Amino acid sequence: MVLEEQYARHHTQLALLARQGTRPDPTAGADTAAALTAASRRALDDLARALRHLDQGRYGTCQRCRTDIPIEFLAHRPAARFCPRCDAASTRR
Ligand SMILES: [Zn+2]
Repeated sequence: MVLEEQYARHHTQLALLARQGTRPDPTAGADTAAALTAASRRALDDLARALRHLDQGRYGTCQRCRTDIPIEFLAHRPAARFCPRCDAASTRR
């Protein structure tokens, strides 16, 4: 199960970052550690939501247009909330 694997991975990374409190890479600054922590938190949020949707039978449905998200898209982005078309529309500036 890809979602659960990703969740576990990010969870582990967050735990490691929190325990170290310092930098995972000696050449990386504290900013990098903070950025990594923030990124993992965001990913965990996304994955937790995706797992909740899975339980509710709503996983894989675009939250904007309600169409099914293509499985190939989900394979690359298991926590995707929007279909490729809506995703492109929402990230376009
Ligand atoms: Zn859509």
